[in-house]
Amino acid sequence: MATNRTFTMLKPDAIENGYLGKVLDMIVGAGFEIKAMKYTRLSEDEAKKFYEVHAERPFYGELVEYMTSGPIVAAILEKDNAVADFRALIGATDPAEAEEGTIRKSYAESKAKNAVHGSDSDENAAIEGEFHFNAAEIF
Ligand code: GDP
Repeated sequence: MATNRTFTMLKPDAIENGYLGKVLDMIVGAGFEIKAMKYTRLSEDEAKKFYEVHAERPFYGELVEYMTSGPIVAAILEKDNAVADFRALIGATDPAEAEEGTIRKSYAESKAKNAVHGSDSDENAAIEGEFHFNAAEIF
């Protein structure tokens, strides 16, 4: 059964380009409730661990460098069908392929600097949420 939570990060390009408020507004406007939120910067070790699944991909080094290049916002979001609905809200990995009205179409710079992360499964949503938040930080 699908759980009702997902995990997101507003990535360094979104913060750097001044889209923090606009992206949060789209998320809340789409019916997601914020259960946990943190403004932080990933260390190299944290970014490597978070993206471990991509360790063999040619862009892994670039991805880690980019994700540690500035502050991010990490959050746990709640809504029915959260994982799938949030993936639909953010759009395709490459903003050039993302549909109109999606966060990436509106605010991402490129396939690499694509403004926002969204968990791809309920299992990963739980793992990623626990990576960033302890129980006392989740409301
Ligand atoms: P997502 O689930 O839509 O975020 O996409 P993936 O799981 O395939 O990739 C994870 C993240 O790696 C993406 O969101 C991008 O930030 C980054 N990424 C994906 N493809 C590329 C690429 O070709 N080059 C670089 N530098 N980064 C990429």
